Amino acid sequence: MYDIPQLDLPPLHGASGTVRLPGSKSISNRVLLLAGLATGTTAVHALLDSDDTQVMLAALQTLGCRLHWQGGGDARVLHITGLGGRLLVHEADLFLGNAGTAMRPLAATLAVLATLQGGHFTLRGVPRMHERPIGDLVDALLPLGCDVQPLGRPGYPPLVVRGQPGGVLQARTPIRVRGDVSSQFLTALLMALPLAAVDSDVVIEVEGALISKPYIEITLNLLARFGIVVQRAGWQRFTIPQGSAYRSPGVLHVEGDASSASYFIAVGAIAAHGGAPLRIVGVGSDSIQGDIRFVDAAQAMGALVKSGPGWLEVHRGRWPLSALSMDCNAIPDAAMTLAVMALYAEGTTRLTGIASWRVKETDRIAAMAAELRKLGAHVVDGPDLIEVTPPEHWQAAAIRTYDDHRMAMCLSLAAFNPLAASGSGRPVPVRILDPGCVAKTFPDYFEALFGVAAAEHVPVIAIDGPTASGKGTLAAAVAQRLGYGLLDSGALYRAAGLAAVAAGISPDDEAGVAALARALPLRFGQGPEAGRTWLDGREVTEALRLESTGVLASRVSELPAVRLALHGLQLAFRRAPGLVADGRDMGTVVFADAALKVFLTASAEHRAERRHKQLISKGFPSNIADLRSDLEARDQRDMQRSVSPLKPAEDAQLLDNSDLSIEASVQQVLSWWRASGPLAGVLSSAS
Ligand code: C5P
Repeated sequence: MYDIPQLDLPPLHGASGTVRLPGSKSISNRVLLLAGLATGTTAVHALLDSDDTQVMLAALQTLGCRLHWQGGGDARVLHITGLGGRLLVHEADLFLGNAGTAMRPLAATLAVLATLQGGHFTLRGVPRMHERPIGDLVDALLPLGCDVQPLGRPGYPPLVVRGQPGGVLQARTPIRVRGDVSSQFLTALLMALPLAAVDSDVVIEVEGALISKPYIEITLNLLARFGIVVQRAGWQRFTIPQGSAYRSPGVLHVEGDASSASYFIAVGAIAAHGGAPLRIVGVGSDSIQGDIRFVDAAQAMGALVKSGPGWLEVHRGRWPLSALSMDCNAIPDAAMTLAVMALYAEGTTRLTGIASWRVKETDRIAAMAAELRKLGAHVVDGPDLIEVTPPEHWQAAAIRTYDDHRMAMCLSLAAFNPLAASGSGRPVPVRILDPGCVAKTFPDYFEALFGVAAAEHVPVIAIDGPTASGKGTLAAAVAQRLGYGLLDSGALYRAAGLAAVAAGISPDDEAGVAALARALPLRFGQGPEAGRTWLDGREVTEALRLESTGVLASRVSELPAVRLALHGLQLAFRRAPGLVADGRDMGTVVFADAALKVFLTASAEHRAERRHKQLISKGFPSNIADLRSDLEARDQRDMQRSVSPLKPAEDAQLLDNSDLSIEASVQQVLSWWRASGPLAGVLSSAS
């Protein structure tokens, strides 16, 4: 998760490997609500964990559904015990973020339940949610006898729905709803009205041409899993049979998100060239999601796609891609990805049938046009269409994302510009502002992208300096701010020393320690385990930081064969989007081409004091004078050894942080980075 103001993507030039997709948002939120209404307990596997599902879960919990998590990681299962159609809580104020898949169906469901059983519910969201229309749904609910009132602007959330116990619904005449603004209104009614089909069938009639039909298919498919078989006459008339009641299917597996798959199908079509295809696991030929049809569009542009149950394999086919002219009504969300693939096509791509883009997380037509133009593309936009012609000259750009996950994911594909056949000039980096907005549906999107994408020049910041100068703290803070990876190279030497001791090998036995170092069974914790380290399965987080281990490290690090053995391991840390590496020879030897080199020092007195405070805080007694003479001895040894001695690189920036706060040092390094990093001089708003 990149919870930072901006993420700079280096130019990417290839892709291979496997991506595992998160669960489908559309399926997850429908399943949650249906399980929440049903009789019985549903075990939901592979549920999406994202902003939109969090708000739905919180709402269900407030309404009295019992939630119980089992297992962890990919194997996590949610057991949800439903209300069996009976309200347990009759009054609640629900916050639904920016999740249309929560707001619309919950509004309809609670309106129906409050009318029949009594209740008073407020539904609200973020400011953008209050700009997304819901009037057509309210208009459909009012003739039923529901009391639904906007709290602000008519036709928009927030809403209040209420009713008295024992109320009746006028459900014998067909309920009419518009289908040409958002298919979510029809989905909401299809999910709410089985609760009203007690004494008679309930009929829903769609006014106007229904858009986004595949989403209605998902709704019908999942309703059937929960025991509601809706009869459909074309796409205009839907009948919910009398006596319908939600029953849990017991177990349900959520498919991977087909809209999320579109980004990686595009990556395969653009960048899986030469070697193996890009494999996408989670959706495949058996998908019930409409956006799986994106595959056809990608193939029409040139992608080579193979598929099976639960998987896709994508390879570049025609190159450059062919421009496309397509009515995207059936795949509104995934169609955004086509607009970005158009950057790699020959000619002009024309996408129509996309008016619904204007009422999504942002006005997506306007947003897409503005951001593609920043990259140098020629874009024409209309009420219902967008036309994209690739750039003649790609321009580095700071891409705004409008709190819209799909804008961030789509525009990240511009980082493959070195592959573009169109255009002239040098590859350009791409800055994504507010990259954390992908959390709406795909919190680990960028991690997944960097897991398969290759960059020719991954930027490195090298931070070297003597022991206890604060390199580790500074490097970690800079890496965090930039969203870059971190290499604590000292930890590798420390681990090599510990491994030698554990194996009964003398720290002076060059060949013996080097052999251990070549296959060091070291594992650095990721995600919730970040900051912890394991050696050969044993946690060594604390042992690594001991003074005695530092001394051991400085002994093994003098041995040329050991340094050589650890060289490749250190280079392997250089992965997109970038690396901050700290140590003694990061700027001089290992990453001699680092875009920024910093040599960090502090007086021996300050360093001894800091180390003293650190040790005392951990409960280790220590003496400042001894510490000072120890670290001076270690500096001497590091500076005087024959291989990779500690010294500033010729082009290093010197930073004495004796009297600087950590934040001041971080700001200094970031300001050097802005002046000398890959985006220096390219973007004026290098904030
Ligand atoms: O930075 P740290 O104190 O963890 O490093 C422990 C020892 O490992 C240092 O004193 C130094 O001798 C060695 N080292 C090295 N080259 C590096 C990092 C650490 O020689 N790049």
